[in-house]
Amino acid sequence: MGKKYLICTYGCQMNVHESEKIAGSLSGMGYEETTEVEEADVIVFNTCCVRENAEQHAFGNIGALQKAKAENPELIIVVCGCMTQQGDFAERLPKTFPFVDFVIGTYNLDDFADILKRKLETKKRIVEILDRNGEISEKVTPLRSSYPNAWVNIIYGCNNFCSYCIVPYVRGRERSRKKEDILKEVKSLVKEGYKEITLLGQNVDSYGKDLGDGSSFVDLINEIAKIEGKFRLRFMSNHPKDFNGNVARAIKNNPHAAHSIHLPAQSGSDRILKLMNRRYTASDYLSKIEEVKREIPDCSITTDLIVGFPTETEEDFQDTISLCEKVGFDGAFTFVYSPREGTRAAVMDGQISDEVKKDRIMRLVDYQNTYNRKRSKEYIGKVVEILAEDYDEKKNKYLGRDEYGKMAYFESKENVIGKFVKVKINSTGGMSLMGELVETE
Ligand code: SF4
Repeated sequence: MGKKYLICTYGCQMNVHESEKIAGSLSGMGYEETTEVEEADVIVFNTCCVRENAEQHAFGNIGALQKAKAENPELIIVVCGCMTQQGDFAERLPKTFPFVDFVIGTYNLDDFADILKRKLETKKRIVEILDRNGEISEKVTPLRSSYPNAWVNIIYGCNNFCSYCIVPYVRGRERSRKKEDILKEVKSLVKEGYKEITLLGQNVDSYGKDLGDGSSFVDLINEIAKIEGKFRLRFMSNHPKDFNGNVARAIKNNPHAAHSIHLPAQSGSDRILKLMNRRYTASDYLSKIEEVKREIPDCSITTDLIVGFPTETEEDFQDTISLCEKVGFDGAFTFVYSPREGTRAAVMDGQISDEVKKDRIMRLVDYQNTYNRKRSKEYIGKVVEILAEDYDEKKNKYLGRDEYGKMAYFESKENVIGKFVKVKINSTGGMSLMGELVETE
């Protein structure tokens, strides 16, 4: 029987994509995936320190593997991901869990296969957290698990130091991939039949600034426009500080780019935005939205919002609601602020009580849900183009999104995953749409 691996992924899309790279390394060594701990020869914990109580979760989950290791001493347990680069986590972890075989950071993920081979040969525990700012390895091909969607890193790290965020401390400064490497990857994904490609980075608008060869995000979008084939192009995430009309125009002129922009506002209060170190005001944000709407009138705008940031008053919170009213967000990821150790906001005076935070998030979610339901109703009777992405066994329906990111469910006798289909919307189910298939590719 062949060797098997199991990867447990926590956190954001960046982590999910890094797990695809680890899967690529393991698959290159002849391992196959399993979802059963008992069958696994290698178990990888890809940790994330961005989520709340991340360390407790990670420690709890890793601790639970002690029994599996006792029953199968040959089992290799690996811990990687951005948490390994936070504070003294990498030093503490092997002391707390002596059965962990190796710990690696995000910079040396591409060396995963070499480190695993070394571990198997020497049987010694390995802790390697490299500091490799500036150098990007291209040696691993990800084993993707999200057809027809694919994520392509264009820039790693972040230079922004928002006061609530741990990312710049654990993922280092911005490092852009070479444009040729990105274009090669996108072309090959299109050739393989992927239908939605999301360019990934903490701040995609910063792409190219560190390369010093004239590369820019706009230039990259324009180059991708020349690639033939039908696919959708998305970005995650833009930053209001760096997003501008040139990016909006490049999106407008690119036949592949979805008319959908995710622009995290975080707050509508200038005072809070300053404390967050976001380096834009609410009115800067609104002018960028106006520019987008001028260039791409049908563009959907989604955002991230945080409530309960230190010192946030009811008035500040109302500024956030007011920003939502002015923009009319097609979707918002709403978060309750929670301190991340090692960030400036964690030690700020004026931390907000859980009760107040809960009250504000409920009001914000309520506002946004009511707005979304209203927008969903506008779809009724329309025929929309949906990229079929998955099949929901509970609902017995296929599901997918339109270019604006709206989710729709529909029935089909044939498997349509990976196809662009036309769906007539008959009703809404809360945030999503229900329709009937009227045409397949
Ligand atoms: S832009 Fe701000 S919130 Fe986003 S990763 Fe960078 S520091 Fe964190």
